[in-house]
Amino acid sequence: MSRLNPRQQEAVSYIGGPLLVLAGAGSGKTSVITRKIAYLIQQCGIRAQYIYAVTFTNKAAREMKARVGSLLRGAESKGLTVSTFHNLGLNIIRKEHAKLGYKPGFSIFDEGDIKALVSDIMQKEYAGDDGTDEVLRQIGSWKNDLILPDAALAKARNPKEQTAAVVYLHYQRTLKAYNAVDFDDLILQPVKLFQEHPEVLEKWQNRVRYLLVDEYQDTNASQYLLVKLLVQGRAQFTVVGDDDQSIYAWRGARPENLMQLKEDFPSLKVVMLEQNYRSTSRILKCANILIANNPHVFEKELWSDMGHGDAIRVIRCRNEDAECERIALEILTEHLKTDRPYSDFAILYRGNYQAKLMELKLQHHQIPYRLSGGTSFFARQEVKDLMSYFRLLVNPDDDNAFLRVINVPRREIGSATLEKLGNYASERDLSLYAACDEIGLSAQLDSRFTERLVRFKRYMDQLRQHCAQNEPIAALRSMVMDIDYEHWVRQNSSSDKAADFRMGNVWFLIDALKNTLEKDEDGAMTIEQAIAKLVLRDMLERQQEEQEGADGVQMMTLHASKGLEFPSVYIMGMEEDILPHRSSIEADTIEEERRLAYVGITRARRNLAFTFAARRKQYGEVLDCLPSRFLAELSADDLQWEGQEDAPVAVKAARGNEALAGIRSLLKK
Ligand code: ATP
Ligand code: MG
Repeated sequence: MSRLNPRQQEAVSYIGGPLLVLAGAGSGKTSVITRKIAYLIQQCGIRAQYIYAVTFTNKAAREMKARVGSLLRGAESKGLTVSTFHNLGLNIIRKEHAKLGYKPGFSIFDEGDIKALVSDIMQKEYAGDDGTDEVLRQIGSWKNDLILPDAALAKARNPKEQTAAVVYLHYQRTLKAYNAVDFDDLILQPVKLFQEHPEVLEKWQNRVRYLLVDEYQDTNASQYLLVKLLVQGRAQFTVVGDDDQSIYAWRGARPENLMQLKEDFPSLKVVMLEQNYRSTSRILKCANILIANNPHVFEKELWSDMGHGDAIRVIRCRNEDAECERIALEILTEHLKTDRPYSDFAILYRGNYQAKLMELKLQHHQIPYRLSGGTSFFARQEVKDLMSYFRLLVNPDDDNAFLRVINVPRREIGSATLEKLGNYASERDLSLYAACDEIGLSAQLDSRFTERLVRFKRYMDQLRQHCAQNEPIAALRSMVMDIDYEHWVRQNSSSDKAADFRMGNVWFLIDALKNTLEKDEDGAMTIEQAIAKLVLRDMLERQQEEQEGADGVQMMTLHASKGLEFPSVYIMGMEEDILPHRSSIEADTIEEERRLAYVGITRARRNLAFTFAARRKQYGEVLDCLPSRFLAELSADDLQWEGQEDAPVAVKAARGNEALAGIRSLLKK
């Protein structure tokens, strides 16, 4: 424990009861967790299999695993669980599926599936799917607050909520019928299970002898309850967090959980850390000044002895193209001049849409890059098609998957046939898949059509057998050939190049599955489990991580950057309507946007630059942009403006509440 400061050491070695480490960015909270895992194993003799560490993103979980790995000998860490909340929930459901009323091989519905399902329910129940998004949000927020459909119905106060509650009821039933769960269920179902089955809870409590939670400020009500249930009785846990980095309120995160903890566990010990080991004092000062504009429950002061450091640059660019070009060229020049690896540089942005142009510029200059999170690989047509095949393979009750693949590629099965099949199935409480065989016997359909349905089902049945009997991966590969998916893709792509790219994704997906199976430590993973994992995107990101072994500029959203650090950071699009985001300005949730900016700034170790465009194409129009109000809040002495000479004076004058007005008048000049 030589490198830890006394406070950190105290946090690591305190095992007398529940512990909260509350501290600002870069103060070593995550380091405390990783060191503590090693301490528990090596000094306290707790076996790794009884230690569970939970964090927020897959990337963060991987990082934590790597950090722990470097502190332990291989065998010592065997059985250790370091995962996201959702992965932990998935594991619990997988082991306890029978008690929850799911069959093995259950599907996990992604956003697209869920939306389709809700819209379908609304069509049926209300003859229209207007307001689907709102209903979805409402259902999500009920789920995050652990409110089940019956309770939602009882609670609904106005027609809108009543509609949402009715849809919620149907939605939950349909999911069950499909043997599927959604993302929120991954937390909600284990909590329900633990509440209803004390014996199951006890079993898990015995498994989780020590629990560590990183980024605790971003847990929502259901995640908190999961934590609370797991540690009840023993109360052996360490959670670490920073209320200034709470950036998931929109997903139900409750920074108040930090306070709640003290109430629920009166013996809670609180350790505060104040030294930042990541950033130069200039970067840190900038972060401190910015966040001081938010109201605070806990007063924290961070300091650093990493040296004063270079000025923070604010780069004004003509337009978005110039902005991306500037960043790309700077990184290229720096890389060539100093030989620093590309991976030293991170480009952070508010929304994924900002990445596209940046990617193109980097490609243009042949700068390698890694895009993490947010790449909607899974939203791609071909990936969704294949995934639906896989899902249907492991879960024949998954009607959504069935409907997606039945005519991909075309099998001449028309909507009238599907409607008949649907009616037949729902009357008998069957899945569409199961109904394929039966409907033929009932003579409700012309034999030509029945034959097509039956042929499809037989094929899938055979494929399932192949997967079970021998090489599942080979079976999946031959499936792509059997259905001549490539032909379908070529027919539906704008160019040969696009089709090649899409087929590349298809093979990549199958390879990813193969890797998961091969990498499984116990060698006991079934193809079903591998597919379920894939849906959680976990594996794919890990794959990406392996490729990350190669050098590349890191690109990600500010949200995805939480917990990470880079020597040089560019935060692009520092403009009103982008950061802070337009919807936050309208909803008056600027404080959360400020925390997001704070997270971004505190990722930087030595160099930090903000860029913004004077004009930007948005919604097909070229619009004038205003620099972000957050720039005006920073200390002008530490900023170095480029591309606009009179900016520092004006911004200095504009500090405080008039920040925005000041910037506006500056631009009018
Ligand atoms: P964040 O709030 O951004 O998640 P954090 O509080 O989790 O940050 P860490 O990521 O654990 O902070 O640590 C930040 C950096 O400081 C890391 O590079 C870590 O290795 C280093 N560090 C932590 N503690 C010490 C120490 N006692 N001595 C030297 N370096 C340290
Ligand atoms: Mg951290």
